[in-house]
Amino acid sequence: MKPPAFDYHAPAGVDEAVEILAEAGAEAKILAGGQSLIPLLNMRLVTPGHIVDVNRVAGLGFVEAGPDGVRVGALARHSQVERLPELRRVQPLLGQALRLVAHPVIRNRGTVVGSIAHADPAAELPAVLALLGGSVQTRHAAGGRTIPAAEFFVGPLESALEPGELAVSVFFPALPPRSGTAFAETARRHGDYAIAGVAALVTLGPDGEPERAAVACVGVGPVPIVVETPYRAGWDGAAEAVAAAIEPEDDIHATAAYRRHLTGVLAVRALGQATEEARG
Ligand SMILES: Cc1cc2nc3c(=O)[nH]c(=O)nc-3n(C[C@H](O)[C@H](O)[C@H](O)COP(=O)(O)OP(=O)(O)OC[C@H]3O[C@@H](n4cnc5c(N)ncnc54)[C@H](O)[C@@H]3O)c2cc1C
Repeated sequence: MKPPAFDYHAPAGVDEAVEILAEAGAEAKILAGGQSLIPLLNMRLVTPGHIVDVNRVAGLGFVEAGPDGVRVGALARHSQVERLPELRRVQPLLGQALRLVAHPVIRNRGTVVGSIAHADPAAELPAVLALLGGSVQTRHAAGGRTIPAAEFFVGPLESALEPGELAVSVFFPALPPRSGTAFAETARRHGDYAIAGVAALVTLGPDGEPERAAVACVGVGPVPIVVETPYRAGWDGAAEAVAAAIEPEDDIHATAAYRRHLTGVLAVRALGQATEEARG
C-alpha cells in the first residue's frame, strides 16, 4: 500500500524543527530512520497530516561516551552506536542489545532515539534504558526537559513525549563498578522481534557474590518491566519474582503461559551471564 497524503517538511536545525512541530501539533509525525514509521504509514495505521523529516537537522548525529555514560543524538544510527570503541567498557549492555535489533541493513538506518521514542514494548533498547535508569532529553518551542526512563514509557507505542516535542538525545548511564550485564532473548528467527527477552544487570559485593541484581523484560507487558531480582544461593527466586511481575498476553507466536515460563528461564540465563561478566 501507499502512505496517505501529507505535507513534508525537512528542517535544517532544531529550532526550525520545533517551530514546525509546534505549528502542526498532534497532526505531525517526526521521521528519523523510518524503519518503524514508514511501514506504519504504508499500512495506513498512522495518518499524519505533516511529516517532519529530521534527517537534515544539523548536530544530532553524535554518540559520545564519557565516565558517566553514553549520550546518543537523535540521528545516530544503531550501527554507529554499535561501533563506538568505548561502548564495551562504558556500557556493554547497549552493544549486547543492539546486536539483537533486527538485521544490519535496518541497523544502518534506524536510530537509537527513534527506537526509544517509538516505545515498542517488544523492542530491546527501551528495556536497556529502563533497566539502567537513563533519560531522554527533549526540545519543544517553549524550551526543553529531561524525562527519566521510569516516566518515559507509558504504554504500547506510547511515550511521555507531547505533540510538538522532539527527543534530541538519550542518555544511558555507565556500568557501575563490580558489575556485569547480559541480554538473553528468544525469537522465531534471528533478527525478528523477540517472543520474550531479558536484559540483566548484576553488581557484586566485596565477597564476589551478587549484591544487587535487576532485569528488564521485553515483550511481556505494555512497557519494559523492571524487576529487582534476589540472589539466594542461586537465581530460582529471581525467576519467581519475574514471573509474578510480568503481564504476558497470548498471540499467534506464543501463549501467555509459555511467555511467562520463557521469561523466567531467560532471566536466570541473563543473570548468570551478567554475574560471569562482573567477575571478569
Ligand atoms: C524488519 C524489521 C525488523 C525490526 N526488528 C526489530 C527488533 O528486533 N528490535 C527492535 O528494537 N526494533 C526492530 N525494528 C525497528 C527498528 O529498530 C527501528 O529502527 C526503530 O524502532 C525506530 O527507529 P527509526 O529511527 O527507524 O524511527 P522512525 O521509524 O523514523 O520513527 C519511529 C517513531 O518514533 C518517532 N520518532 C523518531 N525519532 C524521534 C525523535 N527524535 N523525537 C520524537 N519522536 C521521534 C516517530 O515519529 C515515529 O513515531 C525492526 C524494523 C524492521 C523494519
